Amino acid sequence: MARWLVLANLITAAGLISVAALLLWQMRTDAERRSQLTANSLVQVLGRDIARNVELYDLSLLAVVEGLGRTDVAQASSELRQLILFDRAASAPGFAFLLLLDARGIIVSGSSQTAPKGLDRSDTEYFRHFVAHPDDDGLHVSPPAISRVSGQRMVMFSRRLSNPDGSFAGVVVGGIKLDYLRSLFASVDAEHAGTVTLYGPEGVILMREPFDQSVIGTSVAETSSYRRMIAMREGNFVGPAMVGEGERRFTFAHLGMEPLTLSIAVAPSAIYAEWWHRALGLGMVLLSLCGVTASLTWLLRRELGRREQAEARLVAANTLLAEQATTDALTGLGNRRRFDEALAQEWDRAIRSRRPLSLILVDADCFKSFNDTYGHQRGDEALRLIAGSIRSAANRKTDTACRVGGEEFAVILPEIDMAGAEVVAERIRMSVMGWAMLHAEGPHAVLTVSCGVASVPEVLAHNAVALVAKADAALYSAKNAGRNQVHAADSSKKVLRLVS
Ligand code: GH3
Ligand code: MG
Ligand code: MG
Repeated sequence: MARWLVLANLITAAGLISVAALLLWQMRTDAERRSQLTANSLVQVLGRDIARNVELYDLSLLAVVEGLGRTDVAQASSELRQLILFDRAASAPGFAFLLLLDARGIIVSGSSQTAPKGLDRSDTEYFRHFVAHPDDDGLHVSPPAISRVSGQRMVMFSRRLSNPDGSFAGVVVGGIKLDYLRSLFASVDAEHAGTVTLYGPEGVILMREPFDQSVIGTSVAETSSYRRMIAMREGNFVGPAMVGEGERRFTFAHLGMEPLTLSIAVAPSAIYAEWWHRALGLGMVLLSLCGVTASLTWLLRRELGRREQAEARLVAANTLLAEQATTDALTGLGNRRRFDEALAQEWDRAIRSRRPLSLILVDADCFKSFNDTYGHQRGDEALRLIAGSIRSAANRKTDTACRVGGEEFAVILPEIDMAGAEVVAERIRMSVMGWAMLHAEGPHAVLTVSCGVASVPEVLAHNAVALVAKADAALYSAKNAGRNQVHAADSSKKVLRLVS
């Protein structure tokens, strides 16, 4: 019982833990998927937004490139030309200024009237880029730098100007304030989304959220993760961080036709932070539950164990009591109660199975005078000897020997017929005489017993009481015939006579 209880509790606890483990695993997978989805959509939305803005800047630059190529614009008055060339620049949000450089790098005009005309800008990164790359007629994005015009940190977007014959005519350049670029990232919830970074050509970091002044303008072109990102153009992977230590999961996309890449880097700890929180909570609750279950099981098991022991002790005590209640203290044989119970039971069984049943009544001869002569003590001793004789004569397991009165005994012999019972009775009589216990006052000088035997089906008896009466009558007959004899019921005939 206790063992089954423990087993059932163990199975319950194991089931509980398995379900929780499955739940946690699903929650972990969910957390990863959710984080991936968030990163994906953020890259898409933010990337589109930035690409649209950059496209607007580029359109402004293209307007200048195209305008300069037209002869009617070239022939217009300088105010009108100014208006035509830089009109679009005003519509592009975030443009700080537009400048026009000639083939020597000298500023020739600009979107604002205060443009520092005549200044030499041939040493700038973008001018040197177009000089070095005569074939590049696309948009060029320079690393962030401090503008000599406004003194602010800017990202320069530039395009090549060509003469009608295709030769280098100069550069048109637009400056976008870094602060404006940063405002595009304002919608990013960096705490949950991870680090959002915009890379220009050569892996130069143009903007980063959370904002970190020290990494803006640095290049990560040499890192393995950047190279992998450029090779894939779009997608995600887990690799070493480009800035800082540890692993990151990168989700990234190349922005349209622009030489720009946007990425979101999330540390695994950030992906699973909330999951860990829940897992720990659930784990604690589960552990507590298991602990309580284990303690209760242990307590219950101990209690059940104690009860089982107490019950076993009680059963043993009851058995002993029952044994004592039906045992004769002097001889160790059954007492009158045992005799009554056993006879009733054996009578029923005999009648039911139509098998023989015999009863022997044994009575010590002239025992009163024995007691009177040798004392009660010696009398008890004699009774124990008679009991010993009966026990050894009727020694089958099914035989029941009892002391039914002071010096009277009865032996129930199931499955034994009259003849067999007479043999047993005779064995008892002989055995008692064999003790040769002096009985000077007795008719035979030694202690003797008389026996009355009654058996079914040999004698006519309708019930157990009648059988006892028949045996008693036989005993009476034996006494009357001189004692120390075995008499069978319904027969005054002496079966065996004393040979003394
Ligand atoms: P009979 O041959 O006709 O049976 O004569 P009896 O003297 O044996 O018969 P009676 O019934 O007159 O006497 C029985 C005697 O058994 C009386 C008593 O002294 C003795 N007796 C009965 N119970 C005990 C006992 O527990 N211990 C002892 N020592 N004697 C007992
Ligand atoms: Mg007697
Ligand atoms: Mg008697």
